[in-house]
Amino acid sequence: MDWMWRKFVLFGLVALLSGLFGMPAAAAPIVASQTCHASADAAETYADLRRAPDRWMCSDSEYDIGPESLFLRYRLTDPAKPRAQSLVTHASPFRAITIWVVDESGKVRTQRYSSASAHHLIDGPMMVLPLPQTPARPRLVTVRIDQPWNKTIASEARLDSEPEGSGWDMGVVVAMAAICGMLVVPLLLNFGFYLVLRRPFVLWHIVMVGLMLVETVIGTGFIHIGANPDAATEIAINSLCFGAVAAAGLMFLVTFLEPDALSPWLRRLMVGCAPLVMAGGIFTALPIEALRPWSALGIYSGISLAIVIIFIGITDAWRRGSKLVSFLMVGWSPVLLVGVYRIGSYLLPNARPTESVVIFQLALAAEVLANSLGIVIRFLELRRERDLANARATELEGVAGRDALTGLWNRHSIERRFNDLFCLGYRTMAVIDLDHFKRINDLHGHAVGDAVLKVVATTLAEDPEACAIRMGGEEFLLLLRGPGSAERAERCRRALSTRIAAAVPGLGHVVTASMGLVEHDLSGTLDVEFAVLYSHCDRLLYEAKRLGRNRTMRERLTGFAPELQLRTG
Ligand code: GH3
Ligand code: MG
Ligand code: MG
Repeated sequence: MDWMWRKFVLFGLVALLSGLFGMPAAAAPIVASQTCHASADAAETYADLRRAPDRWMCSDSEYDIGPESLFLRYRLTDPAKPRAQSLVTHASPFRAITIWVVDESGKVRTQRYSSASAHHLIDGPMMVLPLPQTPARPRLVTVRIDQPWNKTIASEARLDSEPEGSGWDMGVVVAMAAICGMLVVPLLLNFGFYLVLRRPFVLWHIVMVGLMLVETVIGTGFIHIGANPDAATEIAINSLCFGAVAAAGLMFLVTFLEPDALSPWLRRLMVGCAPLVMAGGIFTALPIEALRPWSALGIYSGISLAIVIIFIGITDAWRRGSKLVSFLMVGWSPVLLVGVYRIGSYLLPNARPTESVVIFQLALAAEVLANSLGIVIRFLELRRERDLANARATELEGVAGRDALTGLWNRHSIERRFNDLFCLGYRTMAVIDLDHFKRINDLHGHAVGDAVLKVVATTLAEDPEACAIRMGGEEFLLLLRGPGSAERAERCRRALSTRIAAAVPGLGHVVTASMGLVEHDLSGTLDVEFAVLYSHCDRLLYEAKRLGRNRTMRERLTGFAPELQLRTG
């Protein structure tokens, strides 16, 4: 059975991954993306770079954002392609971008943009800068990016045939919007779970999904439907979100898995590393100019750390036979793989840095789906455990609340349940005490005394509309409801003598009982204290004993104004 389960998980993993990587990339009306690029110091000009052909690198990698500026150069030689109208690139902070366009007649036009003047798309995480207008078709486009904060501003740049730039295909936009909607569902579901079962893992998942939603709204460009933050603000919020999601992911792992699924040192390592992971996000969010070339490394180091520890954690839990870890393996593998791919593409010298936003968001969606399923199953499991524990507690309480000799409820349990019983209509209270019981013990021994007490208990428990309680020694309490409850109690008291005589022969005398009884008027208050009613009964019982025993003293209470009705038995 266990092997079946493992095979199922592995199959799920393979299916998910092949689906993810087999997906075609979104097509966009790109005029040119193949480019040459060069890094330059602040003092170097466009003319300097034009005069130094050996400075240009025409591979699609090795972007260096350490120096002040990055140059990009596009040669537009294919007349079959539409005319280039704008530069579209990944939304990322920069200080200024200057674009030179040389047209086919040799005319040069130039335009400089600040970060604030970049137009952000709503259908993709991209910003658009229109090319300066030239009389003829552009032949050579050169772009100078001053103070780029991230390599992807260069690696993901392209020329577009639309003056306003073009974003994702409709299909991708719909998929991304669906992911946003899909994130809201587990968020609400988890809130509901948390109200029922206050477990930390539900809270950590709420944090994860909530921040993923923020990250998705920004990372897809959807934020620009209603607001217009600049790229620096977006990157800062997104880095904080990524750091927090990864840190919360570690905490989720620690709190979600079965208690013995992780070795204690690993648990401590994960909790200890969560703030470090978050610190990576904070580093990237800092708007400090001196950190610019290394800014992106902050979040990438934080995420790398999280990935390594999560991988170790998942392996450890799998080795220790955790069932719940399967949900994390299925859910997290795509995200972890895309994360490794993104970081690798940024850090490896020969790779083209890419944000892979679409594939990353899909992986996130898979993660949330699998985790939510895991949470539902864990929730049901925990609820079952809780119900079992409650049932056991009730059972124990039942045993603890009973008198060992007679099996009747004891004083403690009636004090706790009195209000409920009173509300259920048990409003007649009778305290019954055997007369001269000590004499039975003295004459016949304790065992015979016990036998008498058992007969009393059986007799009192016979009325289906009465609760019989042993208050201690040879004193019993009856709570009754229904018509004629006072009379029924009185019949019970009288029956004791014959029942005892029949069940315990040879006592030599008739055993009688005295009773103090209070009827509470139905129209009175519902808020009656046990001690108050009991002390009334006790006083009446004392009265019965004083007047010669083997009798009942009755009282009717309306609210708390006693109207005494004395009657001897
Ligand atoms: P009264 O008519 O005034 O109620 O006199 P009484 O003898 O019934 O009352 P008293 O309080 O003087 O004595 C109660 C006795 O009940 C004393 C105690 O030894 C005995 N008793 C208390 N619990 C038990 C028990 O569980 N089993 C037996 N056999 N006797 C008990
Ligand atoms: Mg007695
Ligand atoms: Mg007594």
